[in-house]
Amino acid sequence: MAGIYLHIPFCKQACYYCDFHFSTNQKYVNEMTEALCTELKLQNDYLQQEPINTIYFGGGTPSLLSKEHLKHVLDIIKANYRISKSPEITLEANPDDLTFDKLKSLYDLGINRLSIGIQSFNQEVLGFLNRAHNHEQALSCFQNARKAGFDNISIDLIYAIPADSHDNWQHDLDQALALKPEHISSYSLTIEPKTTFGNWLRKGNMPAIDEEFSASQFEILTERLTQAGYEQYEVSNFCKPGYYSRHNSGYWKQEKYLGIGPSAHSYDGVNRRFNISHNPKYMQALLESKIPYEEDILTAEDKINEYLLTTLRTKWGADLEKIKKEWKYDITSEHHAYLEQLFIKNYAVIEDNHLRLTRSGLLLADKISSDLFKV
Ligand code: SF4
Repeated sequence: MAGIYLHIPFCKQACYYCDFHFSTNQKYVNEMTEALCTELKLQNDYLQQEPINTIYFGGGTPSLLSKEHLKHVLDIIKANYRISKSPEITLEANPDDLTFDKLKSLYDLGINRLSIGIQSFNQEVLGFLNRAHNHEQALSCFQNARKAGFDNISIDLIYAIPADSHDNWQHDLDQALALKPEHISSYSLTIEPKTTFGNWLRKGNMPAIDEEFSASQFEILTERLTQAGYEQYEVSNFCKPGYYSRHNSGYWKQEKYLGIGPSAHSYDGVNRRFNISHNPKYMQALLESKIPYEEDILTAEDKINEYLLTTLRTKWGADLEKIKKEWKYDITSEHHAYLEQLFIKNYAVIEDNHLRLTRSGLLLADKISSDLFKV
C-alpha cells in the first residue's frame, strides 16, 4: 500500500511561527492546480502500481482550494492510479475557511478525514501566532464539520507559548476534549530562524522557548489525553481507538509515498526525492513537462538512522530483528551499556524484539534515537 501527498502552497497570511513552503499570493491557484495535475500524470509509475491507500491534501492551506479544483485533482488521481477499496482521504483545513456549505461540498467529494488547524481556542494566543481565525471560528468549524457528516476529525494544538500559563493550556485541552475529536496532534512551539518569531528572537523582542515549561505542558497533554481515552501512538499524535492517521503511519512505517507539488517529498522504498520549493519555477517546469526535483541516494546508515528516528517516536517502536537482518546492525550488542541505562531510568523497554520508549522516554525520543545512530 502507498500514499499520495499533495502540497497546496498558498495561505491567506503567514503565521508567525511557520516555516513551511507557501505563498500569500493566491493569483496562480488555477495554474498551480493544473501543474499538480500534470505532475500526477507524469509520476504515475513512481509507485509501481501499488494500490493507493491514502490521499493527503496538505500545505499551505488546502481548504483555500475550491470544490472544482479539488474535484479536478481527485479525478486525475482516480484516472491515473490504482486506488484501494476504502482509501483515507484527508484534507488539512483552517477554521476560517470551513463554512457549512464548504464542508458539505468537501464531504460530497469523498474527503473522509479533516485535519483542522485550530492551534488554540484562546483569542490572545491566536492573535500572538497571527492565525487568520478567531476563537468562535475554532469552535463553529468543528460543529459544522460534524453536521456536514465528518466522523473522522483531527485537530492541531500548539503548546509552550511564551508567557502563557498552565491554566490556559488546561483550558485549551478542556475545549478540545469537549468537542470529542477522533484525533489530536499537538506540537510544542518551535522558533525557526526564517520566521517572524525567529526575527523577533534575534532582535531580543521575544524569549526563547523554555524547555522545562514545554516539557511540563507535554506532561499535562499526555496525562489529560490518555485519561480521556486517547492513545498516544506517536510522540505528538493521539487518537481514539482505531483512528490512527493511516497516512502518517505510512511514513513512520517506511511505506512508499508520492509527494506532488512544490517542496513535496517522495519515497519509493529506496531513495528520496525533494521537489523544488519555488512556486513559479515549479509551475514553469511542469509547463515543459519536467519535474523539478533533487534526489537523495540513501546509504544503509541513512536508512537505519531514519528508521530509528521515526519508529522510536511511535508506540510500535523499532524492530530490532529487522534492523539486524536488513542492515546488519545489532543495536543490542553495539549499544549494550547505553540500553542498560535506558532500562534503569525507565526510558525504554524491549518487548517482542522491539525497542520501545516509555512515556518519559518519549520526551527524549530524538536524543535517544541519535545516540543509537549508526555513524
Ligand atoms: S496556515 Fe499553516 S501553512 Fe499557512 S502559514 Fe499558517 S501554519 Fe503555515
